[in-house]
Amino acid sequence: MRQRVRLRNSDPCSSHSPACPGRPVSPSVQRRLRARRLRLQNPDPPPPPRLGRPLPTMAGRPRPQPQQHSPSASTRRRERWLVVLGVALHAVYMLSIFDIYFKSPIVHGMAPVPPRLSAPPAKRLVLLVADGLRADKFYEPDGRGRYRAPFLRGVIQEKGRWGVSHARPPTESRPGHVSIIAGFYEDPSAVTKGWKANPVEFDSVFNQSRHTISFGSPDIVPIFCSSLPHSTWGTYPHEYEDFATGPLILQFIFFLGHVFFTLLEALIADASFLDHWSFDQFQGLLNRSFDDVKLRQLLLQDKLVIFLHLLGCDTNGHAHRPYSDIYLNNVKVVDQIAESVYNLMESYFKDNQTAYVFTADHGMSDKGSHGDGHPSNTDTPLVVWGAGVRSPKFLTYTEKPDDGFRFVDDHKHDTPTPQDWALEGFERVDVNQADSSSNVYTCGFAMPDEFCGELTYSLFEIKQGQTVAADEVEAVLANTKQILNQFLRKSVLNQIEDLISAKDYETALKHSEELRDGSCWSSLFPNI
Ligand SMILES: [Zn+2]
Ligand SMILES: [Zn+2]
Repeated sequence: MRQRVRLRNSDPCSSHSPACPGRPVSPSVQRRLRARRLRLQNPDPPPPPRLGRPLPTMAGRPRPQPQQHSPSASTRRRERWLVVLGVALHAVYMLSIFDIYFKSPIVHGMAPVPPRLSAPPAKRLVLLVADGLRADKFYEPDGRGRYRAPFLRGVIQEKGRWGVSHARPPTESRPGHVSIIAGFYEDPSAVTKGWKANPVEFDSVFNQSRHTISFGSPDIVPIFCSSLPHSTWGTYPHEYEDFATGPLILQFIFFLGHVFFTLLEALIADASFLDHWSFDQFQGLLNRSFDDVKLRQLLLQDKLVIFLHLLGCDTNGHAHRPYSDIYLNNVKVVDQIAESVYNLMESYFKDNQTAYVFTADHGMSDKGSHGDGHPSNTDTPLVVWGAGVRSPKFLTYTEKPDDGFRFVDDHKHDTPTPQDWALEGFERVDVNQADSSSNVYTCGFAMPDEFCGELTYSLFEIKQGQTVAADEVEAVLANTKQILNQFLRKSVLNQIEDLISAKDYETALKHSEELRDGSCWSSLFPNI
């Protein structure tokens, strides 16, 4: 065995060797030998290690390895086109969303329809908006069974009406204020401006007033007042919202640096001073009017709107969550401000001709945010009282309304009234948020052009003390006409657009001129 191995390894001229001298060698064998010699002189680099199972062999011979081909030019061109096509399709899908859903629904050009009231019950309206105040934290008692808003609870039980005002998503500050003050749900195209500016100008209760006085956040008040000549308004600096300061010591810390102060603010700041700021400005204005004859005359005229924006709950809700003591204490602050405003107005005017509305633009989720359609964000308090507002209605057991869930546009009560609110004996009037501005009918001036809310008949009593209240009918009729005008105008505009699409320019021009002149209704709608 040892010898055989030695012979095989050492003797190149064994009988099996084709290279043994003395034997004839064919040309093909010579070629193979030459090739073998060359391979021995220039060995190939070892093949790269292969992962996975080896390829099966056939008859003991290795199968040819698949070669990796680089993609040809035509394949690369096809892939590039595929990528371009994919990007183009996604761009079209995105643009179609903006084209379909983010178009302004605002219709311009309707004539205002003031109610033909013999004597409006209210000369002025006070609108108090507690930004970010959710309904349950406002109505429920605290841990010791005491209610956080004793003044407004007294109003509910003795003077006015209450309910829940249902906001629509997006439950943001600007859309909420637009629906309260302008009476329509926010123009979706405003999202392209970050909810900060007006992409399309719109009418508002302030426009229709004779004069408007407004104090509050620089993010809200200028939306409605910046281009309004008949308004007196003021805002605090933006820094107040970022740095919810106390008086002097925090003013000093402000100068120490942004980072340090932000950390400190998260720990100790209470933004309720923003609410006090709005009230102080209004109180200062009334005090100045005793020395300023022009200002006093301005205040004593009718169709006056006073709007105080109270941002404390929103800022504290974001910073400390709505379960925090700071947020819950801010509920007490806005109640105290409502009481102070009421006392101030009644002592200043002494005529019982002021209507009051207290509500919020949106609520606040448990996480300290808002924007979606969760009830903690959509349900806000509503308390109305004063001139033109019905007195509380006490309910017997059989009169208690249906508490079943209904859709937001067709509801009276979204959720049952919790027992711990202790208000089941008083009629609850839930409204859609855009309806809350209908209270200006009590002042006798027209609703904003784009107003799409309803006069909430359960809240307001236009003419008091008469069996047949003609003024109430006039108010409802004006509300109906105003909404109908929007529908008709939008219908005509759609017809004109259709005519242009069909290249019927002559008829489109005719209808456009008729619409401009106001003579189109009878020709386009003969049955109306
Ligand atoms: Zn807000
Ligand atoms: Zn907010």
